[in-house]
Amino acid sequence: NTFAEIDLGDALNLNIRRCKYVRPTPVQRHAIPISLAGRDLMACAQTGSGKTAAFCFPIISGIMTGNFPQRPRGVRTVFPLALILSPTRELSVQIHEEAKKFSYQTGVRVVVAYGGAPINQQLRELERGVDILVATPGRLVDLLERAKVSLQMIRYLALDEADRMLDMGFEPQIRKIVEQMDMPPPGERQTMLFSATFPKEIQRMASDFLSNYIFLAV
Ligand code: AMP
Repeated sequence: NTFAEIDLGDALNLNIRRCKYVRPTPVQRHAIPISLAGRDLMACAQTGSGKTAAFCFPIISGIMTGNFPQRPRGVRTVFPLALILSPTRELSVQIHEEAKKFSYQTGVRVVVAYGGAPINQQLRELERGVDILVATPGRLVDLLERAKVSLQMIRYLALDEADRMLDMGFEPQIRKIVEQMDMPPPGERQTMLFSATFPKEIQRMASDFLSNYIFLAV
C-alpha cells in the first residue's frame, strides 16, 4: 500500500515523494479515498496520525482538477475554495507549513490567518489571492465582519481537532462561519471533521454540518 496507488495526480504525488512519505498512515489510507470519492467524513484522529495530509491531499487534488466558477478579482474581498479550521495559532501555522509543501508548484495557494498577531500582514497575504485558507475561528469571524473574506465559494471544509475547538468555546464562531457557507448551492460543499473524541456535542456538529457522512475510526 503506497501513495502511488492512490490517484492524487502527478504534481501532488511528486510533492508527497519530496516529503519522503512512502506509505499512507491508517487514517490516510482510509480517509483519502473516501474524500476523493466526494463523500463527507467524520474521522477519529490523534495528533501524529497524519491527519493533516489526510485532509490536505483531497482538497489540493480537488482544487487542481475541479471546475469552479470564476472568482471575482480586483475587489477587496477574497473567495477561498477551501477552508481548514483549527483551534490554535500553533496548529494553524503547522498546517499551513505542511499544506504549502504539499501544494508546491501546483498553482494552489494557501494562506493562514490566526488571532493574537497583527492582522495587516495576514490581510496583505490574503489580498494576493487564496485557494485554501487555514484559520482559527475567532480571526476568521473578524475577517468576515470586515468583509475581507467571503465563504460563498467554499467547496471544501475541514474541521481539525473539532473537540479541542469546542473545549476552547469556539462553537458559536464555528456555527457563524458555517452558516455563511450555507447560501446556495447547498450540497456542493464537501466537509471533513477530525476529532480525537466523539462526545454528544461533536456528534451534533457532525449531523448539522455534514451530509450523509462516513464515520471512520482507525
Ligand atoms: P500530523 O498527525 O498530520 O500532525 O502528522 C504527524 C507527522 O507525521 C508530521 O511530521 C508529518 O509530516 C508526518 N507524516 C504524515 N504522514 C506521513 C506518511 N504517510 N509517512 C511519513 N510521515 C508522515
